Order: sequence, then structure tokens, then C-alpha cells
Amino acid sequence: MIKLTNITKYYDDFYALKNINIDIKADSLTLLKGISGSGKSTLLSLLAGFIKPSEGKIVIDSINIAKTPDLHTSKFRRNIIGFVHQNFYLFNELNVYENIMIALLNQNMGNKIITIKIVDALKSVDMDKYLNQKVSTLSGGQKQRVTIARALVNSPKILLFDEPSANLDYHNKMLLLNIINKLRQNNTTIIIATHDEIFNKLDTIDNIIHIDKGTIIDR
Ligand code: ADP
Ligand code: MG
Repeated sequence: MIKLTNITKYYDDFYALKNINIDIKADSLTLLKGISGSGKSTLLSLLAGFIKPSEGKIVIDSINIAKTPDLHTSKFRRNIIGFVHQNFYLFNELNVYENIMIALLNQNMGNKIITIKIVDALKSVDMDKYLNQKVSTLSGGQKQRVTIARALVNSPKILLFDEPSANLDYHNKMLLLNIINKLRQNNTTIIIATHDEIFNKLDTIDNIIHIDKGTIIDR
């Protein structure tokens, strides 16, 4: 499903990632562990096609996204990838529905289908009651569930979470674990970048990859 071969990413003479090799099976769950600055977000950004590697191959669903032009990459991202950002990146002045609708723009979809997809995505994180609520009035945990719904709305094969528990209290972390356990039931490949031990409580974990200073130190 996902194969990284000799991936290196440098900025000037600083290596954020060095010679990374990873092979991830479809429908598996991977924890990407490492302290702050170890290269986790860089790796997720490469997988999502937000940035290109300096060297190496990233093959996802038999496409080498290291080489595809940006326009193709953004199409690929919309169809294949759901990204849950640490800092949510929601529009506070828009309501929940509008925030998720943004992920469905430019796809020639009728309003009815759009609404069905948005309500379905919100149901899977138990937030469908908040459809018309302005994002600025939601709690941190609720905002995060909206970002997960936005990541789910295009039914991605791959879900990437960047430090998803960073802004959550214990109760909301447990809700997040439940959501992730549930998401595993619909054939999704999940990668979670984190240094929070709480994810060890997930029902099943297929791989744990430890990175430090841009290099895999253990798996
Ligand atoms: P993590 O997510 O594990 O905290 P990052 O992937 O964000 O780590 O960063 C890894 C290293 O790469 C850090 O030292 C960071 O400062 C550096 N880095 C990340 N992005 C850039 C960039 N655009 N330009 C220069 N250095 C960067
Ligand atoms: Mg990070």
C-alpha cells in the first residue's frame, strides 16, 4: 500500500529525514513515534504530498508521488489521503457543515450528496448534532472530531494523524482512541505520529516505527 525507499529530506545542509525505508500494508495501523523534532511531521507531509522528498521513492497505491506534478498530487491527496492536523486548521467563523464542505469543493457533487456525505462523516465521530454550530463555540475535543470528520468525508484509503492527542484532556483522548478503533473496521490504513504513550491502549497496533533525528532507530 505504502512503500518508502531511501527517503531523504534536507533543508540546505540540515537533514530532517535520512535514508528512510518503510513498507506499510493496506488496512494496517502504524504508530510513528519519536520526540519533538525527530521528523514525524516531515514524514507525514511527504506521505500526503504536501512536500517532495530530496531523494527516494514514495509509492502509494502503485503511484510514485515523489515524482508527480503538484496538480496530480493534490488530486491524489483528495482521493486517497485524509489528514488530521495537530492544530485543526478549521475556520472558526464558519459552522461545522461549512468547514467540512470545503473538502468536497470542485468535485461536481450535488447538494444532496454533499449533505449525506457530511452527515455520515459527522456521525462516525458522534458530532452530527453540531452540524449548524459555529466552530468557535466548540470545545477542543469537539473541534478535533470535526477535523477527523473533514478528513473522512472523501472516504480516504489512508488516514494520517499528526499528534492527534496533543491538545486533548484525558477524557477526549479516550474518545479519540474509540474513534480510531472504530475507523479500523472500514478498511483504512492509519498512521499516527505521536509521542503520547496513550496510543499503546489501542485495540490493535500492527507496526510501531521509532524515529530519532530523522532516522528509524527501531521497529
Ligand atoms: P516532529 O514532527 O517529529 O516534531 P518535524 O518533522 O516537524 O519533527 O521536524 C524535523 C526537523 O526538521 C526539525 O529539526 C525541524 O526544525 C526541521 N524542519 C522541518 N521543516 C523544516 C523546514 N521547512 N525548513 C527547515 N527545517 C525544517
Ligand atoms: Mg510534528
